[in-house]
Amino acid sequence: MTTITAMTARALPRAGDDRRDANAAAVLRTVLDHGPVARSRVAALTGLSASAVSRQVVDLMGVGLLREHPELSGTGTLGRPQLPVDVDTDRLAVAGLHIGVPYTTFALLDLRGRVLHRQEISNRGRTGFAVLRPLLARLPRLIAARRGERTVVGVGAVTGGTVDPVRGVTIRHNPLDWRDMPLRDLLREATGLPVQVDNHARALTRAEILFGHPAARRSVVQLFVGHVVDAALAVAGAVHLGPPSPTGDVGHLPVPDSDEPCHCGRRGCLAVAASDTTLFAAAAREGITAGPDRAGLIAAVREGDRRADRLVRERARVIGRALALLADVVNPDLLVLTETFALLDPVYLDVVRSEFALRSHLHRDADLLIAQQRGADALAVAAGAAVLGELYARPFRTLAS
Ligand SMILES: [Zn+2]
Repeated sequence: MTTITAMTARALPRAGDDRRDANAAAVLRTVLDHGPVARSRVAALTGLSASAVSRQVVDLMGVGLLREHPELSGTGTLGRPQLPVDVDTDRLAVAGLHIGVPYTTFALLDLRGRVLHRQEISNRGRTGFAVLRPLLARLPRLIAARRGERTVVGVGAVTGGTVDPVRGVTIRHNPLDWRDMPLRDLLREATGLPVQVDNHARALTRAEILFGHPAARRSVVQLFVGHVVDAALAVAGAVHLGPPSPTGDVGHLPVPDSDEPCHCGRRGCLAVAASDTTLFAAAAREGITAGPDRAGLIAAVREGDRRADRLVRERARVIGRALALLADVVNPDLLVLTETFALLDPVYLDVVRSEFALRSHLHRDADLLIAQQRGADALAVAAGAAVLGELYARPFRTLAS
């Protein structure tokens, strides 16, 4: 810790120096996209002067965000060798927590969003504060044991439900039985680190913008289907945060041709028609699994159980219909689906795509619809992206917080 603290003391700009932070962010993001890259090319891509880029690179190297790439790429104008620069993936790390119903995912990520360590911690059926109590006690040791030589500069914590990232509070998460849970303050107190809290669909979207498909920078809709169903929207690289804090709630979007009863009193709401809870319960009802069981259903699908295959295909069609509605309203450049079975077997993504193409009134090409590419790491990366997004947007201020 002391090494980086000493460096930040030297290189950090004065508080409130927003313009310098914006220039630093432009340099950092350009190196993220193009690194290893020559300073002169960074200048051309950002529109900043060569001397401004050089100053920023020195400061960003000083705080551990950039490093010089060891390979020489010609010489500078004054005869000094000009080394290309890249994002430093060795000195700093961020921690990510996705707090879900069955388990919490803990991860450490490097600055390119690559997972250095990931583990699931069972929540053993706990709800309310009982989910957090053991986690808060264990987290400092987990970080210390796994960070190695790296300095951990922040914790990103994401959950489903309604989350206010400005106050750092999960306002409402029904399956966890949380109301106004002050997640940021609790985690900051436990770890002594800066904490960013967000909704997991928004965090998945942020991860896609930072490290994913290039079209996500233009506009993207993300649909997360798990025990909860959440969506998020980003335009021109900015993740939408509606007033007062939720992105919006797609949970009660009526899905055509579905009549599952919802707790809201209506039938055919997406949150029920498409959720893992409904799917796993159906598998149990049909005797495919002994009880509602994620691993059991995945195993049945892998073994070619026809009833399991039919249930998963039915759900894929429900998701395709919902995505067609979302795409027709927003008309995004990219649709990203985060769902277990579309990832498990591309056949199920094809079912979603076919239904999508059939139902979309805009007749969008189904190729705009992709499955979340990170597999089991998706939620870990999203959790880390809550803090990495801040780091890439306001590097010095984030490190000084
Ligand atoms: Zn409903």
